[in-house]
Amino acid sequence: MEKEEERGHILGVAYPTQGHISPIHQLCKRLLSKGIKTTLTLTTFAHTSISPNPPHGSVSLATFSDGFDHGGISAAESIHHYLRRFQTVGSQTLAQVIRQHQSSDHPITCVVYDAFLPWCLDVAKDFGLVAAPFFTQTCAVNYIYYLAYQEKLELPIDGLTFLEPQDLPSFLSVPGSYPAYHEMVLNQFSNLGKANFVLVNVFEKLEVKETELLSRVCPLLTVGPTLPSLYLDKRIKTDENYDLMLFDPKGVESCKDWLNERPKGSVVYVAFGSLAELCNAQMEELAWALSKFSFIWVVRDSEETKLPSGFAESLVKDKALVVKWSPQLEVLSNRAIGCFLTHCGWNSTMEAVSLGVPMVAMPQWTDQPTNAKYVEDVWKVGICVKADEENGIVKREEIEFCIKEVMEGERSRGVKENAKKWRDLAVEALAEGGTSDVNIDTLVSACL
Ligand code: UDP
Repeated sequence: MEKEEERGHILGVAYPTQGHISPIHQLCKRLLSKGIKTTLTLTTFAHTSISPNPPHGSVSLATFSDGFDHGGISAAESIHHYLRRFQTVGSQTLAQVIRQHQSSDHPITCVVYDAFLPWCLDVAKDFGLVAAPFFTQTCAVNYIYYLAYQEKLELPIDGLTFLEPQDLPSFLSVPGSYPAYHEMVLNQFSNLGKANFVLVNVFEKLEVKETELLSRVCPLLTVGPTLPSLYLDKRIKTDENYDLMLFDPKGVESCKDWLNERPKGSVVYVAFGSLAELCNAQMEELAWALSKFSFIWVVRDSEETKLPSGFAESLVKDKALVVKWSPQLEVLSNRAIGCFLTHCGWNSTMEAVSLGVPMVAMPQWTDQPTNAKYVEDVWKVGICVKADEENGIVKREEIEFCIKEVMEGERSRGVKENAKKWRDLAVEALAEGGTSDVNIDTLVSACL
């Protein structure tokens, strides 16, 4: 990475799940590459859960506490209790981190914090620092939450009239499903008026209308996609991986070797991110649908018992690989991959968009239904499965149909062409003078 300047120091503050740690860490790497010192703060529990092995010249790491240093959220009695304690203990320990730096050669000048932790803004402002929330979900989703926070959410949404009730984030479309998370996503807007910038992990051309809508209500800077530079603009030579993984990457080499022996575009990659849990019936439907294809399926430890017995070991052994965790970027960028069956978490979606991989969308909760709608109807880079109206399960025939349709059916060609177009635009956004590149420069200038 490039030489550090003497002035300016940005402190990133991560929310401790994989889908939040990677994008903010990546943003920190971009900032560092612009010549500003950058430190990323992780909760103590997240820090001990990963094996940080950052390459030389990379982002420094610091720790603060969510109040559950020995177990994180699973040690809390409820999500509500976790978030409350995180705010109390997190505010104090974040202030300590800032204070320690203020007497050093590199005092903090700006705090870039995950938007799920709005109280970081108050801590930053107590020290008179520049403060910028970083949203790891789309402008569409953020705008919808903003309207809900303002109690102005009504369908059709002005400017986004194509969104129907089932396309809204699940915390809104399924009232009462996760009250603590519902409160958290709306609270992102509670003190936004005091933010110097509002950063979002998208690129402008992907959400032209949506960035315009959000810009009307806050000082928006689109700064994505946050994939490692190697996969996009290639300007940061040392940025090849996400580096900070909460899951054990053991055995990931097997994916590469296995894929390298398969024909181009022949394999379905299936992954539901780091959190989603499928019910037993859904796992079974999915398993039998996949058995018709050659596939790599990420089944995390906690999901493994839901597989039909003998499925991975014998039933699909010759044409499939079932792994506990994969090197997702390497898998998606392998020529053998024909499509990505995804839950549409924002990182996974952005990765597929950025790598030009067509998708079969199978959203589960939170912002995923909205992302899936955009995948199918706005960006037209995939197809969304339809669930059975009675029990919400997606049947094996439906999954099989959608995979075939994306890989070789009527819509296949259009979807593949669109995927390529969006990939080129993602690269353009980060290239020198691209919209995200310019926005990152704007942030850096304000922090010097
Ligand atoms: N991921 C990975 N290997 C896996 C599954 C997921 O590296 O086997 C990564 C993926 O590339 C993405 C992140 O984990 O960056 C998941 O984030 P996302 O927003 O897609 O979903 P979440 O886990 O937040 O639901």
